[in-house]
Amino acid sequence: MAGSQVLMNTYNRIPVDFVRGEGYWLIDAEGKRYLDAISGIAVCALGHSHAGFIKAVQDQVATLVHTSNLYGVPLQKQLAEKLCGMSGMDRVFFCNSGAEANEAQIKLARMFGHSKGINVPGIIVMEGAFHGRTMGALTATHSNRHQNGFAPFLDGFYRVPFNDIAAVAKMINSHDNIVAVLVEPIQGEGGVVMPSADYLTDLRHLCDEHDMLLMLDEVQTGNGRTGRYFAYQHNNILPDVLSTAKGLGNGFPIGACLAQGRAAEIFQPGHHATTFGGSPLACAAALAVIDAIVAENLLENATVMGDRIKFGLSLRLKDAAHVKAVRGKGLMIGIELDSPCGDLVGQSRARGILINVASGNVIRLVPPLNINEADSDLIIEVISELVRDFQQHGEGQ
Ligand SMILES: *Cc1c(COP(=O)(O)O)cnc(C)c1O
Repeated sequence: MAGSQVLMNTYNRIPVDFVRGEGYWLIDAEGKRYLDAISGIAVCALGHSHAGFIKAVQDQVATLVHTSNLYGVPLQKQLAEKLCGMSGMDRVFFCNSGAEANEAQIKLARMFGHSKGINVPGIIVMEGAFHGRTMGALTATHSNRHQNGFAPFLDGFYRVPFNDIAAVAKMINSHDNIVAVLVEPIQGEGGVVMPSADYLTDLRHLCDEHDMLLMLDEVQTGNGRTGRYFAYQHNNILPDVLSTAKGLGNGFPIGACLAQGRAAEIFQPGHHATTFGGSPLACAAALAVIDAIVAENLLENATVMGDRIKFGLSLRLKDAAHVKAVRGKGLMIGIELDSPCGDLVGQSRARGILINVASGNVIRLVPPLNINEADSDLIIEVISELVRDFQQHGEGQ
């Protein structure tokens, strides 16, 4: 069913085929309904049948789909103005995915370095990081599972432990070619790993001190996921550069690299480009998402429902011995267990809720930003019950 002889064998697919979406419910070929608490991996923030989103995409398909960046694209300008207004950034480069948005950041950092006379510019990246699967992004990523078999990697990346500001300072002081730090505000694929509250602010200060760019990967944390439009807004700082993608287009492929200040002036004509990036259709989709986030107060909803789910889970799992932590921000929530818990994905699906597991032992919940109280409570009920049963099972072994 879900597997195929004609598709490259790149995915371990779960044996279910969805054929339709209604709000944040997915319906399989047999008509069974599932509450989608994974949102196509933190993508479909409005769910699967949002009226405003559908109308915007339908109207734009009928008007103009693609012209290329040979010409002006008014909707690109409109979307960039909205994004800059929400973020405090100055300029935007549009692309088609998270990995591509990170490639733009990496290239921008290197050009910044060369402009300072540094021939082999270095970028500091983190242990446990995930930045995508293209060669630059894959080099910045830190995972045997993702990297094995793909050497040689790129030069110029220096790795330090996540959430360790002293390690960053030490790395900067022992090299004279470091030009940027690239970091996720919360590590997503790494297991919903949260740094201490001051980490990004401390990184900002270090970068200022050493004339380096602070580059954030907000591919997963961006677009309202953590209750602010971008996660760095919890810290009241501005990065120099940031990437985003996943939730930006609610499932229509679009990514973006945003920059402010001098970082926004680095790319000049010919330096970077993409055929599809920022098409009228992609921009119309993303504009509809931002309009919905604003009109429906979804940042606040993500904060309130996120707290509700986190609190509900914490309460019910408080004395569950094998639960190491319930954590997250807004509607990006992780439950860390002390052993691999991939089995819970299937058990949860059988109970009608779609979740996934990151880093082997962390249940990841990234439901749509418009989830309501009743369905938040349903997630709390079902997931806490499954985790408790999983405990008993684990203890018996
Ligand atoms: C998903 C993700 C990426 C890669 O995005 P793609 O669109 O799959 O290329 C990069 N960084 C982070 C933090 C992500 O979560």
